[in-house]
Formats: sequence, structure tokens, C-alpha cells
Amino acid sequence: MIKLVLLDVDGTITDRDRKISVRAIEAIRKVQDDGVKISLVSGNVIPVMYGLKIFLGLDAPVFAENGGVKYHESIESFFSMDKPSAVFERLLKEAVLEGILSNKWRETSYGYVPAKGEEEYISSIAGSAGLTTVDSGYSWHLLNKGQNKGFALEHLKQMYSLEYSEILVMGDSFNDVSMFRKEVVKAVPDNAERPLKEIADYISTSDNGDSVAEVLLNLSKL
Ligand code: CA
Repeated sequence: MIKLVLLDVDGTITDRDRKISVRAIEAIRKVQDDGVKISLVSGNVIPVMYGLKIFLGLDAPVFAENGGVKYHESIESFFSMDKPSAVFERLLKEAVLEGILSNKWRETSYGYVPAKGEEEYISSIAGSAGLTTVDSGYSWHLLNKGQNKGFALEHLKQMYSLEYSEILVMGDSFNDVSMFRKEVVKAVPDNAERPLKEIADYISTSDNGDSVAEVLLNLSKL
């Protein structure tokens, strides 16, 4: 039986243009009322995730910066900004990337847009400094090692004393791969990237928020 659902935000509970799905919100409320914990984990920043938790009325923690920062009763950062800052400043000087607006509120990572053809160079510099990079489909992220959505999954599993088989994860892009562990139940919207579809247990016939509603309202059958 699924006791916790961990959802990506952009492209999963929102459409491609990031408008949130009313059907997904309704399904989230219903499933939570039935006793299932619903958590969100995103590459976005903590002020956004703080707002989503409050306005959606979520009981479980939410995670920003791909798992690096949690908001529950208070805000908790699990990683440092030291290495990401040093590498980001260097790459900015080299003009191989541009920062994104939400960096103003980041605590453990940077979002960036690579200059044309510089994706691999940026990732190699990040790697040699002990950092990682990932493309969410909306922007690239410069992250600490071990800072990923899988980290958020482990945190929640421990917090609620759950088995992996009691957790369902759902996401559409490369930064969701780390939470698509073998032992959890994995669902994807039809708009998901191919590598996620290949390892998913359930591929929705619909996209974005409609797929979230479809999955959540059929949780007992998955
Ligand atoms: Ca996404």
C-alpha cells in the first residue's frame, strides 16, 4: 500500500508553461485526506516550495534545490553554498553560462543556462571540483555531490519509517532519475523523458497534471 507520494513540480503537476493543474491539486487534496502523505521535490527555490506547501495545504515536508533544502516546520539546508559559489563565479567569468533569476534565493546550488555547446565543459569543471550538474528541462543546476531528489526520498523514508515499496515517485525529467530507485513505485506522465519511461512501473496515457490525477486517483490499483 502506498503511504507516501513524492512529486516533481515543473512539467509534472504543471504544464510545459508551468501553469499548475487544477485537476492535480484536487487529486492531491483528496489523496491526502485519505491519509497518504504528499511531498513535492523540485529544482526550484525554497520561497516557491514554501508557498506551494502552504497554499496546497500539504502536511508533509517539501524540498527545494533538488533536495538540498527542506521546509517543514522550519527551513533546513543540507548542503553548503561554498563550492557551488566558487565554481559558478569562475564559469560566469569564462562566459560559458548565464545565471537564472531565482539564484537570488538559492542556498545550496545555482541554476544556469549553458552557452551554446558548453554543457560538457561546464559539467567537467563542476565534476573536477566535486560538484554535479543536471538538466531539469527548465534549467541546468550546479549541485553538491549527493544533492539530488534521491536524497529527499531517503530523508522522507527515514522520517516516516517507510519501506521503499510504500513510496510512489513521479517525475518527468533527468533530475528525477535519482529518486527512481528500483524498489519504489515509479510513475511518469506521457511527456516524461525516455530514460524515465524505460524504468517506470506505470506510464500514464496523459500528460502533466492530468497524469498526476490519473495516478493519484488509482493509487490502490498500482
Ligand atoms: Ca520536471
